[in-house]
Amino acid sequence: MERRDGQVNVPKMSSLSARSMEFNRRWGIAKQVKSTGWPQTHPNDFVYCTSMCGYELARVKVAPYVERPLAYSPEPPCGCASIFYEPVLVQHIESLPSVSTKLRHSLDAFTQDADGVSATVTNHVTGENEVIRCQYLVGCDGASSSVAKGLGVTYEGVGTLTKSVNVFFRSPDLHRIHDKGWARFYRFTDGNGSWGELIPLDGKELFRLSTFEADAAFDADAAIRRLVGKDVGYEVRSVLRWDRQERVVDRYNDGRVFLAGDSAHANSPTGGLGLHTGLADAVDLGWKLYAVLQGWGGDALLSSYALERRPVAVNNVRACTNEYSFLSGLMGGPEIDQDSETGAALRKQWSEGFHEIHQWGGYQFNDNLRMGYCYEESPLIVPDGTTAPPLDSPEFVPVARPGTRAPHAWITPDRSTLDLFGQGFVLLRLGPDAPSGEGIARAAATRGVPLAVVDVPDPEIAALYDRALVLVRPDGHVAWRSDEAPADPASLIDRVRGTRAVAVVSDEGTMTRRFRIEDIDSIFERPRRGE
Ligand SMILES: Cc1cc2nc3c(=O)[nH]c(=O)nc-3n(C[C@H](O)[C@H](O)[C@H](O)COP(=O)(O)OP(=O)(O)OC[C@H]3O[C@@H](n4cnc5c(N)ncnc54)[C@H](O)[C@@H]3O)c2cc1C
Repeated sequence: MERRDGQVNVPKMSSLSARSMEFNRRWGIAKQVKSTGWPQTHPNDFVYCTSMCGYELARVKVAPYVERPLAYSPEPPCGCASIFYEPVLVQHIESLPSVSTKLRHSLDAFTQDADGVSATVTNHVTGENEVIRCQYLVGCDGASSSVAKGLGVTYEGVGTLTKSVNVFFRSPDLHRIHDKGWARFYRFTDGNGSWGELIPLDGKELFRLSTFEADAAFDADAAIRRLVGKDVGYEVRSVLRWDRQERVVDRYNDGRVFLAGDSAHANSPTGGLGLHTGLADAVDLGWKLYAVLQGWGGDALLSSYALERRPVAVNNVRACTNEYSFLSGLMGGPEIDQDSETGAALRKQWSEGFHEIHQWGGYQFNDNLRMGYCYEESPLIVPDGTTAPPLDSPEFVPVARPGTRAPHAWITPDRSTLDLFGQGFVLLRLGPDAPSGEGIARAAATRGVPLAVVDVPDPEIAALYDRALVLVRPDGHVAWRSDEAPADPASLIDRVRGTRAVAVVSDEGTMTRRFRIEDIDSIFERPRRGE
């Protein structure tokens, strides 16, 4: 349910992380996302300058999307602002037969009891109110979440860091009058210090300025003149005031009501981690709710949501504040934008200092932060005693330790291991001598747990996963791995499905499917509305 009409008029999010793109790939929309928004052949540089027509202070070069394959992911990060991304997402959601959408509907209030949730809703098309009875409610309603308020959560973290402003404007001539070329981000430091960033959205004429701070007297026209450094024609589309925050709710759920995305955590956009964290929340909670509704998931599944996702959010919001402190703390100097000896010396000093501190590129490039986390403390995960690669390094080392994102490797030139995940559990049999996994498959089948057994003979992939049997959850995280079949497969399956109680739903083994790598296309069948 969404109170708007599914279109976004005010761009906030501008870049999708590699992990977010992996989810888009899973949902079958990655190609569409890549082809909308930021052109794939434009550079993705980060340019630091006094103004668009002023002096360049530093540049972090980042290759265009088409030249940027990643060893550890089938999907590099992608520039795609929310004005382009969300309509693609809405269209996809509306194509799913399992989903009914209610656009232009608002949630007004809710109550819950032992059996479900009653949501009071206003239909903005008819103006009428209705009460929707549901089994669960997930508040994905943003930083001013009424669901969070209804739950009476408290927030932990610094709270509001600054008051900021986004100015969304159109200027077909801007890119013609400066010498910086196309870049993903332009960040400004002038005589008054570091004050904001400009993001081109479509690689043509649409731009978004975000200031680091803005007082009540903020003047959008003056800000555009300041960032350009010359006169240029433009048309302001919207001005959005927003609070830059660092906070995470104390509880991710209460009974049948859950929070996901910005309703649970809010961070400074510096770092591009907001939607990245929110999408992963939805992926984590989605399969757990599905499992419970289908009858094969136990109570520990739903309580594991907060245990798995909250620590990730805490880490991410802090990282974004650190990045913000770094960027907004870059000192200017009264003559940094002047054609003078002092100005030149200041620029040189600025550039050397920047490169020294920022040599690894900041959180915007840190995929270890984005993908290296591990749900090791979760009751659903069976740790294997191995040591985690360090999280405080920007270098992401893909591993298949229980709790981590199962690593990417190409099975065929266009098929990733990640393409196997998303529909149910997957038991990978890696290398030539893997045990059969029959016991696990049988235990899953008797409990109604969807599980596919997939043989992956490739020795390089077997080495990457580092065990002969690897059990991957529907969200793509490793639940368990071993070189040997488990002594008690029933107890393993009960653990990963969040229950210790054995509920036998079938003796037939019908939920377990065995695949050879050549046949894996059939795992990817995605029902569409009307098909
Ligand atoms: C300037 C800026 C730049 C950013 N850049 C990035 C980036 O590059 N990468 C990134 O990953 N993240 C970025 N983010 C963060 C990202 O935009 C948010 O994390 C993301 O939009 C959160 O998604 P959400 O669905 O949780 O909340 P929202 O996007 O806020 O969506 C909540 C939705 O709920 C609807 N709603 C609210 N209340 C109700 C109600 N009562 N009934 C019905 N509907 C309701 C709203 O209309 C809205 O559509 C940025 C944020 C800002 C402010």
